[in-house]
Amino acid sequence: MAGMLDGKSALITGGGGGIGRATALIFAREGARLAIADASEDAARETVAQVNAAGGQAMSLSGDVTESAAVQAMIKAVVSAYGRLDCAFNNAGIAGYQVDAGGKRTHEWADESFDRMIAVNLRGVWLCMKHELPQMMAQGGGKIVNTGSIAGLIGLPTSSAYVAAKHGVLGLTKTAALEYATDNIRVNAVCPGYIETKMTEDTMRRRGAELMEKVPFRRMGKPEEIGEMVMWLCSDRSSYVSGACYNVDGGYMAI
Ligand code: NDP
Repeated sequence: MAGMLDGKSALITGGGGGIGRATALIFAREGARLAIADASEDAARETVAQVNAAGGQAMSLSGDVTESAAVQAMIKAVVSAYGRLDCAFNNAGIAGYQVDAGGKRTHEWADESFDRMIAVNLRGVWLCMKHELPQMMAQGGGKIVNTGSIAGLIGLPTSSAYVAAKHGVLGLTKTAALEYATDNIRVNAVCPGYIETKMTEDTMRRRGAELMEKVPFRRMGKPEEIGEMVMWLCSDRSSYVSGACYNVDGGYMAI
């Protein structure tokens, strides 16, 4: 049976772990040729090794998504290797504790913490789209999926810049969907709830039981459960879907 992404070339940022890595393995299962980008070259290489071991095709890339030239170079590398860029999953992101803002209310965030959070989680997504869209227009179309969050839909105490960035990602997604609809480019977002990755390890250790009380499924999601949605959004099965934000959250947003 043909894979849902047979022959498509795909870039995944933040592909060195968590949701990005799980999505890479799902894309490979469905026949995509992959470029795995991550801040850590070793992490990207490990994902490539896992894709190859599963019989897929992948190349590794590294670079910081906050740097325009680095992002442009990543996209150039994908196009040199595969001839085009059919699908892009703009997924790289950080949590508050990674900018020393864990547990801090809005007024307690340091200026530098706020700026870095916005740089990675919002500007990074914009920079990826900025460099992906011209390539997709030139080749006659493409699909983009950005990683939002339930934090892009509601407020979450002690996560102010993270919440602001993720709300921004959804705004960028909807605007690009409108701007490029007639270029045959679909732009969507996935909004994960609490997912089992290194990003949530510490929070879950401290507040796991309390947080799971708020999730109708009473469990965290697995990275693969996000990857399946992203794969569908990048496939031709979602051909009438653009500007949408799909919650994959165990029912969290239904409350
Ligand atoms: P991980 O920390 O496992 O993955 C994030 C990846 O992004 C890491 O591999 C990290 O690289 C990479 N990264 C971070 N900063 C940069 C940068 N500046 N340039 C390039 N790559 C970078 O976490 P998740 O898989 O959980 O997160 C993936 C996305 O999902 C994020 O956007 C996150 O906000 C979002 N999300 C996660 C949720 C969850 O519960 N886990 C819930 C909702 C949204 P490095 O190898 O250096 O760590």
